[in-house]
Order: sequence, then structure tokens, then C-alpha cells
Amino acid sequence: MAFEGLAARLQETLKNIRGKGKVSEQDVKDMMREVRLALLEADVNFKVVKQFIANVKEKALGQEVMKSLTPGQQVIKVVNEELTALMGTEQSKIAVAKKSPTVVMMVGLQGAGKTTTTAKLASHLRKQHNRNPLLVACDVYRPAAIQQLQTLGKQVGMPVFSLGDKANPVDIVKQAMQHAEAEHHDYVLIDTAGRLHIDETLMTELADIKSIVQPDEILLVVDAMTGQDAVNVAEAFHEQLDVTGVVLTKLDGDTRGGAALSIKAVTNTPIKFAATGEKVDQFEPFHPDRMASRILGMGDVLSLIEKAQTHVDEEKARELEKKLRSMDFTFDDFLEQLDQVKSMGPLEDLLGMIPGMNKAKGLKNLKVDDQQLVRVEAIVRSMTPLEKQDPSVINGSRRRRIAKGSGTTIQDVNRLLKQFEDMKKMMKQMSGMQGGKGKKKKGF
Ligand code: GDP
Repeated sequence: MAFEGLAARLQETLKNIRGKGKVSEQDVKDMMREVRLALLEADVNFKVVKQFIANVKEKALGQEVMKSLTPGQQVIKVVNEELTALMGTEQSKIAVAKKSPTVVMMVGLQGAGKTTTTAKLASHLRKQHNRNPLLVACDVYRPAAIQQLQTLGKQVGMPVFSLGDKANPVDIVKQAMQHAEAEHHDYVLIDTAGRLHIDETLMTELADIKSIVQPDEILLVVDAMTGQDAVNVAEAFHEQLDVTGVVLTKLDGDTRGGAALSIKAVTNTPIKFAATGEKVDQFEPFHPDRMASRILGMGDVLSLIEKAQTHVDEEKARELEKKLRSMDFTFDDFLEQLDQVKSMGPLEDLLGMIPGMNKAKGLKNLKVDDQQLVRVEAIVRSMTPLEKQDPSVINGSRRRRIAKGSGTTIQDVNRLLKQFEDMKKMMKQMSGMQGGKGKKKKGF
């Protein structure tokens, strides 16, 4: 999970104050000293840290907090609110032009993840907003950038407009705009060229493209792992181009969080999206409030629910629940369930969103083994239809065959069969409890 270091430190610091029924000025001061250190260590811009601490202190020492019945919790609420405010009070959405197509220019340094992000954004617009974007390959300098966009375009099923790497970017965008109108595309995403460092030629080229296409949105793609460098890059780009939003990439590898926490405050440009991996679907709108809650270990239940909603077919879920209750649950249903879980992304990412999960003792170093899922799936797929429907027929020789077919061992097969039976038993008990006669429901 992103921001592990910061999250762990802040949670440790806040633990001391959380349950306090009485909080003194000294308590707040002590705590803020720790918070300040944690933020600086996370590579947050020092001016931002200073302002943050001042804001929290003022609010935390205010009458409302100190006189409340739960001052400890109120202080944490203040920290949470201020952390959210640092990253933007509300979620900033991508622009929608009054007149179609909406033009989005993607800018950033080489290697930040611009090309990948362009394809991710296209896929997001299609899946979540039912849009029909056109990708435009304008990075004529980086070797193979055009080809990369074409490959990604194919992967997400989105057309890519290109004139090869000999054409001039300004000509490319001009023709791309005509093409987009003729083909009724409602979004045009332009993958512009980057450089290893900011230089004048790059900025001039970007400014030329900007004046031709008059973009509705200029999204700056920055690599979160570069910390304060990302913030400096953002400042420079913003000065020259009036960037309208930031996409933070590689949050998966950013254990510190300095860029995410500083960019909005330093450049006053909102973070609109976050990328958390190389895969096309590892991309999501950036929610400052949810990110703040995750950093403070309050979990990110909303993101989890949203993820589940986009990936899980509600009807199927209801059907499954019925089956579980009626004990008709078979290995076929199990496979279907497994597919849904897998489509939600790596298990470790999901666990990080569950409140308390990342700080629970013993779970701290928990590594979820996605390989285990692969093995389980192989075993189930090696069963015959009869075996999947009625596992009780699986005798010794069948077990041997399944193990061989799935490249696992008989012990693996035995273990899975036992777990499956245990699970069914547990379900039986649970549904018995819910519908059980004479048993009172326990209230909270
Ligand atoms: P560009 O030069 O800015 O167009 O960068 P690319 O799109 O080619 O990305 C550079 C590298 O970063 C590629 O290997 C990408 O797969 C990788 N990358 C992009 N976004 C992410 C991300 O969110 N997480 C991780 N781990 N890698 C990423």
C-alpha cells in the first residue's frame, strides 16, 4: 500500500491521544511535534508542513475540541480534515466540454507514465462514463512511444491516431481534431512528448499544441516516487502551461507520500487521478478524503465498496447468497466467485482498504499469496462437472487425477476439499443462526 511509512508513524502517534477524555495543550503540542517529524520524513514540502501544523494546532486547541466529550477523537478528526484539505477538499473531476469533443492534453517528463496513463484514462472514460475517446500519438521523440500507445490502445480497444514519428506534433493534432470530429469522438486524449528534464524546446512545443487545440484540460502526469522532485516539476509545468490537473502515477511504489501531500498545496492544482500499477485498470479517481482516511488507518471502505460494485454483478451476488443459504453451493459457484474476486485486483490492495487491517498486529507483514488462488483455481478446473457439483464422489483415485491435472499435490487437493466442506458447514451454522427458531437476534 502507498504511504506505509507515514501511515504507520501517524497511527502510532495518534494512538496515544485517541481515547483521551482530557487533552491538555501540552498533549497537543507533543503530538504535533511527532506529526511534524512524520510529515517531514515522508518528504512533504517543509512550508506545507509548517502551515499544516499551525492549522491543526489552532483548531485542536479551540474551545469546540477541548470542551467536547471526546477531545482525543476530535483532535484526530481535525488532523483528518486538514490532511484532506491538503490534498483538496473534494474530488476533482475531469473536464467535460460544452461542445464535443473534450480535448485533454497529457503532459509530463519522460518515464513519468504519460503514455500508459493516457491509455488508462481512455479505458476509464469508456468504462465509467460510456465515452468514446480518440488517442493521439504526439510523442514523436521517445523511441517506440507511438508503438507503445498503439499496443495499449489495442489492449483497451481504443483507436489511436498517428502520423508516424516524422510528422510535426502540431500537424498531428490538427489532423487528429478533424478525424475526431468526423468519427464523432467525444474525447481527444493527446499523448505529448516528454523530456528527461524540463527545457525550453519542450515547453515551446507544448505551448504551440496548446494554442492550436485549446484544450479543456491539461493533465500533468508525475511520478509520485520522485517526491519533492515531482512537486518541482509540477510547479515548472504549471507556470508555463496553466495545468488544470495532476495525475499521480506509481503510488504503488510510493511508501512516503510527499508528492501527494504537497502538490496541491504548492501548485494549487488538484490531483484528479491516481495510478497504482502498470496494468491498465490500476487507475482511479483521486479522493482526498479517502486517501487521508487511509493514511490515518481509518480504512477506505468507500473505495472498496465502489470497487466491488463495478466488478461484481449484483444479480449474480444475490443468486449466490441464495445458494449459500440453501446449501446448493458447488465448486462451479466457487469458481465464479473466484473470478469476481480476481477481477477486483491484487488481494493485498483490497486488504489495505479495510479499516484496521493495515495496523492489526500480526497482519502487519501479511503478504497475500495470489499464487495460492491460482493453485486453488487449477485444482477446481481439473475436476469433472460431476465432481464440481458433488464433491463427495471424489475418492482416492479421483484425487490423484485432479492433483496431476492441476500440477499440485494430493495434499493440496485434500486441503481444498476439507476447506470447502468446512466452509459449507460454517454457512449452515450461520444460516441456522439467522433463521433459527427460538433464537433471539443479538443487537448491538
Ligand atoms: P512516459 O515516458 O511518461 O510515456 O512513460 P510510460 O508510460 O512509458 O511509463 C514508464 C514506465 O512506468 C513503464 O514501464 C510503465 O509501465 C510504468 N508505469 C506507469 N504507471 C505506473 C504505475 O502507476 N505504477 C507502476 N508501478 N509503474 C507504472
